[in-house]
Amino acid sequence: MKSSILIIYTGGTIGMKADPADGTLKPFNFSQIKAEVPELRKFDVRIDSCTFDPLIDSSDIEPSVWVRIARLIRDRYSAYDGFVILHGTDTMAYSASALSFMLKDLSKPVIFTGSQLPIGTPRTDGKENLISAVEIASAKDADGHSLVPEVSICFGSRLLRGNRSTKYSAEAFDAFISPNCPPLAEAGITIRYNADIIRRPSAWDLPLTIFERLDTRVAILKLHPGITPAVAGHCLCADEIRACIIETYGSGNALSSSWFTDLVCESAARGKVLVNISQCKDGEVNMDLYATGAALKRGGVLSGKDMTTEAALAKLFVLMGLYEDNDKVKEAFQCDLRGEISK
Ligand code: ASP
Repeated sequence: MKSSILIIYTGGTIGMKADPADGTLKPFNFSQIKAEVPELRKFDVRIDSCTFDPLIDSSDIEPSVWVRIARLIRDRYSAYDGFVILHGTDTMAYSASALSFMLKDLSKPVIFTGSQLPIGTPRTDGKENLISAVEIASAKDADGHSLVPEVSICFGSRLLRGNRSTKYSAEAFDAFISPNCPPLAEAGITIRYNADIIRRPSAWDLPLTIFERLDTRVAILKLHPGITPAVAGHCLCADEIRACIIETYGSGNALSSSWFTDLVCESAARGKVLVNISQCKDGEVNMDLYATGAALKRGGVLSGKDMTTEAALAKLFVLMGLYEDNDKVKEAFQCDLRGEISK
C-alpha cells in the first residue's frame, strides 16, 4: 500500500524562497510542496503538509511548540506512516531530543530536517535533505514496519538519532554530528540503514502516548576558569531551580576549590537533581578517574555518561513533568530511555 507522510513545517531557513518582486527571502507555501520540489513526485508516497502560523525561527522555540508538535503527531498518528518536521537548525537538536522523550511507544519515524541554505536558492541543501527525509520516513520492511521508527535528524548525508545529535557547524551542509552514536543511516548512491543501531518498539501495535507536561526549572552551569561563587551558587542552590546540569571538563571533572564542593553538597542536601555532562562532545563522564570528579560523585552528582546537554535538558524537563519526587527523577534519569546513553 502507498505510504503516507505528514510534513509539519514549523519554520527555519529551509522553507524560504526569493520573492521575485523584491528578491527578499519569504516562506513558500508548503501546500504546493510537490510543485516546489518536483523530485518528490517520483516517490509513490502521499504527502500532506501542515504549516505553523506564524512560522518560528528556531531560536524562538519554546517547550509549548514541542507540545504542539507532539499533539499533532498523536492526533494524526493512525493516518500516516511517518512524520517529517521541517525546523530551523539552530535548536533542532533540542527539539528532536525533547520529542524523543515526549513520545512513548513510537513505532513510526519522526524525522527532523532543515537546511543551511533556503530551498529556493541555487545550491540549496534543503531539497536533498527533504527528499532523503521523505524517502526514509516512508521506507518499510517486508512486514510493512517502518525502517526507522524513532525520532531522528536527517541532515546532509546522514540520519542521526535525535537525542544523540548536536549542531556542530554553522557553515557545512553536514551541520550535525552524533559523536557517541553511529548514524542510523547514510545516504550515498543508496540509503544504507544501520539496522544494528536502529531502535525497534517492544511491540508494533502499542498506542502512542505523549508526555506533555514539562517542568523547565533546570539550570545549565558551564564550568570555566574564573567562575564565581555567586554564579555557581545561583545555578546550584536558587529556590526556583529544581535540577542543574553541570557542564564539566573532560571526563567529568570540576574545580576542586572547597567553595564549589560546599555549594554542590548544599544543593544536593536541598534535594536538587544534579547531573554531570562533559563539555567534550566525544567520550563519556567517568567520575572515578580524578579526585575532582570523585568529589562531585560523593556530593551526589549523577553521571550523565555520554549524553548530550540537549538530551539531558529534555530528559529532565520530561521526567520532572512526570514525577514530583526528585528521587524518582534521579532514578529514571540514569536509565537509558530512548537510546540516549550508550550501553
Ligand atoms: N535561524 C534559523 C533557525 O534555526 C537557522 C536555520 O534554519 O538554519 O530557525
